[in-house]
Amino acid sequence: MKISLKKRLVLGVLPDRLLQVRGPADGHACYLSFDDGPHPEHTPRLLDLLAAHDARASFFVVGKLAEGQPRLLERIVAEGHTLGNHSYNHRGFAALSLAEQVAEIRRTDELLSEFDRRPLHRVRPPQGHLTVPLLLHFLRVGRSIAYWSYDSLDYQLQSADALAGRLRRQPPVAGDILLMHDDSALAAAALGELLPTWREHGCVFRALRTEA
Ligand SMILES: [Zn+2]
Repeated sequence: MKISLKKRLVLGVLPDRLLQVRGPADGHACYLSFDDGPHPEHTPRLLDLLAAHDARASFFVVGKLAEGQPRLLERIVAEGHTLGNHSYNHRGFAALSLAEQVAEIRRTDELLSEFDRRPLHRVRPPQGHLTVPLLLHFLRVGRSIAYWSYDSLDYQLQSADALAGRLRRQPPVAGDILLMHDDSALAAAALGELLPTWREHGCVFRALRTEA
């Protein structure tokens, strides 16, 4: 489902360099993104699928989960995908001070840099909650938040069939950043059915650019 008009208006007033909602549409590019992993079972299945369809994606990993899955992190990077920063503990940022939010981000940046050798990563706060102090901080330091234009709602749906049906009725268009999750089997199951069709229709799946 596309994000609501009201939310789009709020997101629309923020500059793209602070909050990225869409990716470059050139070459009919679409951007798959997966939050809340890595998961020892579901993430490898998804990586197999992406490799089979020559698709790249962005994985917004939770730092404390990533710590226990170094081989998976290596694989994500080796296969041309982007590592994104989805905080360390996945605690809602609205309940944290700015110092705590920044600490969550810094700890995960440091962890991820061991794998991709990049000091900074695109940030997507847990549940997509944007706090004003963090936005102002990011504006000050020149960092940006990686949001999405298309919420698959995979975390609300009961079955891969329901998810595939929703995505089939409203396929992503060029430039869309599609929000999905790799902590369940749903995304891989639905994409296994849809990726071949979307590719036939000309979609090229790219990873979001890293920050630095
Ligand atoms: Zn999350």
